[in-house]
Amino acid sequence: MAMIARRLGRSVLLLERRRHPRFAIGESSTPLSNLLLESLARRFELPAVATLAKWGTWQRHHPDVSAGLKRGFTFLHHRFGEGFQTGAANGRELLVAASPTDEIADTHWYRPEVDHFFQKEAAALGVDYHDEVHLHALEESADGVVLRGAQHGQEVEYRARFLIDASGPRGFLHPIHGTSELEIPGVTPNEALYSHFSGVERWEALQPPEPGIPFPPDDAAVHHVFPGGWMWLLRFNNGITSAGVSLSPALAAELNLAEGAPAWERLLHRLPSVRSQFQYASTLLPFQHLPRMAFRSPPVHATRWARLPSAVGFVDPLLSTGFALNLLGIERLAALLSAADIPSPQSLLEHERDTEADLLAAGRMIGALQAHFGCPTTFSHLLMLYFAAASFSETARRLNRAHLAPGFLLHAHSRFGPESAALLREAVLHPPSAATPAFRDRIRNTVATVDVGGWFDAGRTRWHPVETAPLFRAVSNLESTPSELETLLRGAGFPEEQCHPPR
Ligand SMILES: Cc1cc2nc3c(=O)[nH]c(=O)nc-3n(C[C@H](O)[C@H](O)[C@H](O)COP(=O)(O)OP(=O)(O)OC[C@H]3O[C@@H](n4cnc5c(N)ncnc54)[C@H](O)[C@@H]3O)c2cc1C
Repeated sequence: MAMIARRLGRSVLLLERRRHPRFAIGESSTPLSNLLLESLARRFELPAVATLAKWGTWQRHHPDVSAGLKRGFTFLHHRFGEGFQTGAANGRELLVAASPTDEIADTHWYRPEVDHFFQKEAAALGVDYHDEVHLHALEESADGVVLRGAQHGQEVEYRARFLIDASGPRGFLHPIHGTSELEIPGVTPNEALYSHFSGVERWEALQPPEPGIPFPPDDAAVHHVFPGGWMWLLRFNNGITSAGVSLSPALAAELNLAEGAPAWERLLHRLPSVRSQFQYASTLLPFQHLPRMAFRSPPVHATRWARLPSAVGFVDPLLSTGFALNLLGIERLAALLSAADIPSPQSLLEHERDTEADLLAAGRMIGALQAHFGCPTTFSHLLMLYFAAASFSETARRLNRAHLAPGFLLHAHSRFGPESAALLREAVLHPPSAATPAFRDRIRNTVATVDVGGWFDAGRTRWHPVETAPLFRAVSNLESTPSELETLLRGAGFPEEQCHPPR
């Protein structure tokens, strides 16, 4: 955001409470977040940032900035006290590819190095960066804001004509405004426990992959799912693995999650296959415990300030929605700063409306999945609503037809929006009805309206490779032509054999 404001000719002050490089959580990108990153970087001429939008360019241009290869999403469903059972008949695994090759794959960001890289890039562009600044007061006036705080024991004061709060969850404006947190409807406010580890065994060393698997299951965001929660595993190329759990308050209380390492061991004891992955692992940082991840704390703006989505709310790390929501907010604020010296009240109100609606859409999706952690079949069907919406949005944006994909996860799409919202609400309110064949048929019909990925094609049960035939089938839905799709696929770096309509 600071780099974009600078590119727009603003004089930019960037204040940080800590000092880079520093640990931060929130590490896994997605096709939509990378597309947004790339398009913002191109529009605002930030070539170094653009290279981080794909694994291949990142590795060639910035091998010194650690990252992980993310070919897609791996979901492995466990029963407590039992080893993981693989095989199609067991219906306990789902692999969804997000890219056809490593070259154009997504990434996990090793935040100490990535954020430091961003900060140095910003400073190189002329952003005035101050760290170890502890702000404690904000004054708003008709012509701007005054921020007061302390740096290295000295009182400091900063004046700005407009402030963007990018200080993350329950950040700077949260205590200053005495904001009370609102619920995100349908969402269970899970607890989290996480750390960085060395020596985590690859899943494929324990469960040799079967022929035809779309990508190595470890080169992905690995989700170990179990009744009451899930664990993420994100592998970086520096030998470090990020791992953590998001647990329902009931399971967290049962395990006494706040205790940290002993609670982690208690959970692993219930998950024998996951425990095998950690048998030689050790933590590189003390465990971090978050007693309540989900939050929603409006207001999103005032006359002279606006907040990024990550400062306004968060649901759960499930499906890695954080970066995409934040980048959508950055895209909106960039447009406002391009259009006017100071964003108009009306445009800020629209930013508020969109920020809220996007967060609630993420909440509906994640809340429904949380309600079905113990039921892999329903969970997988609900997931198809996410993947259908995300892939359609990404394709529409790549075709410069963002108007076809309004709202995060298509929440404002004339048909998919209301239908998916109704299904997701029902999945939370009446979990048994979501497990019926009739409910699954409704999901299929809703997905069909925006299907560019062949989500219910015959033969697709537990593996979803990237195939382009379904995209060509959806050509009219995308208001496109086969030749335009061919150009799109080539431009996105797809292998040539996948760039043609099927014969
Ligand atoms: C457990 C967990 C896992 C997650 N996993 C994912 C994921 O895999 N993928 C994904 O897309 N999203 C994920 N998220 C969300 C992700 O963390 C956020 O979307 C992302 O970090 C937002 O980036 P940010 O820079 O806006 O905020 P942050 O990363 O929170 O950074 C905010 C910065 O502001 C500074 N700051 C805070 N307060 C002040 C203050 N008062 N004054 C000055 N500076 C201040 C902080 O020191 C920090 O440097 C996850 C979130 C959690 C909680």
